[in-house]
Amino acid sequence: MSEQGKALITITSRPELVFAQGQGSWLVDEGGKRYLDLVQGWAVNSLGHSPAVIAQALATQAGRLLNPSPAFYNRPMLDLAERLVELSCFDRVFLASSGAEANEGAVKLARRWGRKMRGGAHQIIGFENGFHGRTLAMMSASGKPGWDSLYAPMPAGFAKARMNDIASVERAVTPDSVAVMIELVQGEAGVNLADPGFVRELRALCTERQLLLIADEVQTGIGRCGRAFAYQLFDVEPDLMTLAKGIGGGVPLSALLCKERFNCFEPGDQGGTYCGNPLMAAVGLAVVNEVCREDFLEGVRRRGQYLASGLQRLAREHHLPGERGAGLLRALVLATDQAEQVVTAARALEPVGLLLNAPRPNLLRFMPALTISEAEIDEALAMLGRVLRDILHRA
Ligand SMILES: *Cc1c(COP(=O)(O)O)cnc(C)c1O
Repeated sequence: MSEQGKALITITSRPELVFAQGQGSWLVDEGGKRYLDLVQGWAVNSLGHSPAVIAQALATQAGRLLNPSPAFYNRPMLDLAERLVELSCFDRVFLASSGAEANEGAVKLARRWGRKMRGGAHQIIGFENGFHGRTLAMMSASGKPGWDSLYAPMPAGFAKARMNDIASVERAVTPDSVAVMIELVQGEAGVNLADPGFVRELRALCTERQLLLIADEVQTGIGRCGRAFAYQLFDVEPDLMTLAKGIGGGVPLSALLCKERFNCFEPGDQGGTYCGNPLMAAVGLAVVNEVCREDFLEGVRRRGQYLASGLQRLAREHHLPGERGAGLLRALVLATDQAEQVVTAARALEPVGLLLNAPRPNLLRFMPALTISEAEIDEALAMLGRVLRDILHRA
């Protein structure tokens, strides 16, 4: 029987801990125990817990202007949109609050374009095991087993193909198809990287069949994979892209970006009470200005490599299948379905705990702050080594 959370609607099972403070890569619970955090709100806190640049941006903007209404321009909204356009291959930006909301916006924009330019084509092709969020339509867009029936009836118009299998995409295309939506690195599915060859073929197929290529970079964008955006690793340009998680550095902020020729909403077609609010946009601008500098991104690549080598070393020591990832989004594959046990034991380590994530029964995912130091990576690897020794080799 749970002590905490008696007043909360049950949505998941949480450990009996209440977190009170965070700084950089460290969290402290109400009992005063410290934890080295390699989850960071699921790749959300790109600059770690409570970074000074975000505290400063929030304080300054909170004292200046919170919300003039989404019906008016405000300066942080304009500045953030311009900065994202400067950094990317896109021309236009819509700001929202969550990844699912940005993805819904992408689907609406694709369907709007399909109505105008493709005779009503509306179907969106996603991928098995893909994850695009938890609204009803995004559950339809996702390829998570069971999600097509959990809250039936589900919104229609979503087909599925298989990642790295271009023939499966070709088979899914019908005259009603308007877009393909892809995570170039599938996050929730266990850090599955798309093959560069597949992504180039997909880009060519989309162009040939007049399908929009939508990159869901909610998890991979804003420096997570060592470049400002993961599509830059694949040498292709999507037509639409969504961002969330890391762009807010911990606050609710997301974005939909498109090329000029897909800028086809009519006034009133799309919006939302908090879309483009200056408080969140000011934070987004501070985060983007910090993370998307070439010297910072170079550091992410270096630390990503450092974490990768450490995980490879652990994989060799413990006879595990291996390690994979891009930048500071990485996974360690176990030989057995013991990932959840590892997560629980790592959290319980004394005197300092380690926070890890297991999106699959046999896989650990690492999403540390992009600012994590090599010393902190060493400390995390040492703690993880202790736990693996204990759990994997127990008689
Ligand atoms: C987390 C995530 C989402 C959903 O974002 P929310 O902010 O939780 O709505 C969508 N797509 C991907 C790839 C994600 O990782």
